Amino acid sequence: MEYLLTTNDITKQYGKQKAVNAVSIHVPQGAVYGLIGRNGAGKTTLLKLICGLASPTDGDFSLFGKTGRETSEYMSRIGSLIETPGVYPNLTAAENLKIKCLAMGIRQKTVVNELIEIVGLSSAEKKKVRNFSLGMKQRLGIALALVGSPDLVILDEPINGLDPQGIAEIRETIFRLNKEKNITFIISSHILEELSKIATDYGIIHNGVLLQELAREELLSKCCERIELKTDDTRKACTVLENMGITKFKVVDTDTIHIFERLSDSGEITMELAKNQVKTIYIAVKNEALEDYYLSLTGGEENV
Ligand code: ATP
Repeated sequence: MEYLLTTNDITKQYGKQKAVNAVSIHVPQGAVYGLIGRNGAGKTTLLKLICGLASPTDGDFSLFGKTGRETSEYMSRIGSLIETPGVYPNLTAAENLKIKCLAMGIRQKTVVNELIEIVGLSSAEKKKVRNFSLGMKQRLGIALALVGSPDLVILDEPINGLDPQGIAEIRETIFRLNKEKNITFIISSHILEELSKIATDYGIIHNGVLLQELAREELLSKCCERIELKTDDTRKACTVLENMGITKFKVVDTDTIHIFERLSDSGEITMELAKNQVKTIYIAVKNEALEDYYLSLTGGEENV
């Protein structure tokens, strides 16, 4: 697989604390990569390391296949919105964008209007940023991150504090930019349920450590409704299931099978296994919500 960005055991230590501890993430080209973790997990620090806003204590990252100093010439292909966007409150969105364009040496006059259109701020043409809602400010932040047509856009908690309508608008904007402009995104959040509506890949970070990295399909298969079956003979159990006409199942480890159909037929399945001298050790219907799965990984209640 082609990765646009990988971090290689990247570490950032503040005093005795490792805010990011040997983290290796892999961001495929064209992905919407969701970086999920509780408050203080190390998300912002990791994103700052990637954007060059902080330097690693150890490890490094590869960008467009380049590592170390060679990444510097590619840094301009990253747009970012980390923490509060730096904006001039007494200016309009267009004026703020013009300043950023000038600073980056972009002179085409159409760029500002295009960006305003892309993030859906056209109707607020005359409004000063100080009168913007939080959602509008976030959208302006995204537009600022898009100046210079980056290939990778990094957004730190872009939906934090937004109402459901604001969240839906940001989600739709990201989705469109990803599909239409082929922009790769890294988005951090502490709400897995929200990220799951848009992310194609996930990195789960906790106490500075990457606990798991998985593609959307893997996450969904871990969370969707299923029968969990443990027997004393997995291979024979698979044959029994097939003979029962059950095809949607997956062997997940040496003694466990997940079955994704006929969820109300646990009784029939155990009887059939018994008839074929396969002993059922455990059988149960599981339906783990995404958020529960995340909590089971990170242990305990979310402290938002
Ligand atoms: P949040 O969503 O609350 O910002 P986060 O996952 O983004 O959480 P970070 O901001 O990366 O977490 O912080 C990770 C840890 O590193 C925290 O314990 C934080 O206090 C610490 N930390 C971050 N920046 C600094 C710094 N400049 N100096 C000292 N400690 C820091």
